[in-house]
Amino acid sequence: MKLVSRSAWGAAAPTGSYSRISSTRGVKIHYEGSAVPGALAGDHGRCASHVRDIQRSHLNDPDEGWIDVAYSFLVCPHGYVFEGRGLHVKNGANGNPSLNAGHYAVCAMVGTSGVVSPTAAMLDGLVDAIEYCRAQGGAGGEVRGHRDGYATTCPGDELYVWVQRGAPRPDGSGTAPAPAPPSGPASAAPPFPGRILRLADPMVHGADVQAVQSRLIERTWSVGPDGADGWYGKRTRATIVAFQQDSTANGWPLADDGEVGPLTWAALWDRPVRR
Ligand SMILES: [Zn+2]
Ligand SMILES: [Zn+2]
Repeated sequence: MKLVSRSAWGAAAPTGSYSRISSTRGVKIHYEGSAVPGALAGDHGRCASHVRDIQRSHLNDPDEGWIDVAYSFLVCPHGYVFEGRGLHVKNGANGNPSLNAGHYAVCAMVGTSGVVSPTAAMLDGLVDAIEYCRAQGGAGGEVRGHRDGYATTCPGDELYVWVQRGAPRPDGSGTAPAPAPPSGPASAAPPFPGRILRLADPMVHGADVQAVQSRLIERTWSVGPDGADGWYGKRTRATIVAFQQDSTANGWPLADDGEVGPLTWAALWDRPVRR
């Protein structure tokens, strides 16, 4: 993570005392919601001064009474994570004191004109900030938009769609997943291994078989006494057949051939759990 400390960006000292917090339910994503100078996009040298401007405008806001920049962190188009109030401090951005204590506030430096879309580097920086809040700041697994629970258009439609997709890194290498919905552990499927997994002689074995078995167990199917051992035996085949029939019965049709090709692979990860 490319973290820019308060001293590095030239933060002014807070004008009052912070409220300390030990943990949060997660992170809320914001955007600036105003003009963000387009020149910022091509010149990281301008970003620290832009963060100082944001802090100054917050300190001078007559209505809010802010003691500091309102956000926990701010992320620039180049993926740098600027420390705002930082970890274990209640932010001022989420809308009211209880919302501010509930989630850290991470602001993307995009707005309604100038820089209007997040860059790939920025999305990576946002995920860096989320992971940092979790690893060091006691943040839980939630990733939400400012508009969740508060009447605002923030963080804009583009970032909000990204939040709803689970805040993935742009290259798909990792995500900051929102917690599993109550319907079950839906998650993005890992890439199909490229070979069809089936009962064969000699027996098929490998990490891909193990991934299928682990996923079945996660979805409450039994794969036999040996658990996820990586061997595609008769018991694993029988469980796959049962899973395929259950899928078909629940509106996700699959041939019940006991083989894991791309369609069964996708269903294992993406089909909502209904059993
Ligand atoms: Zn906001
Ligand atoms: Zn920058």
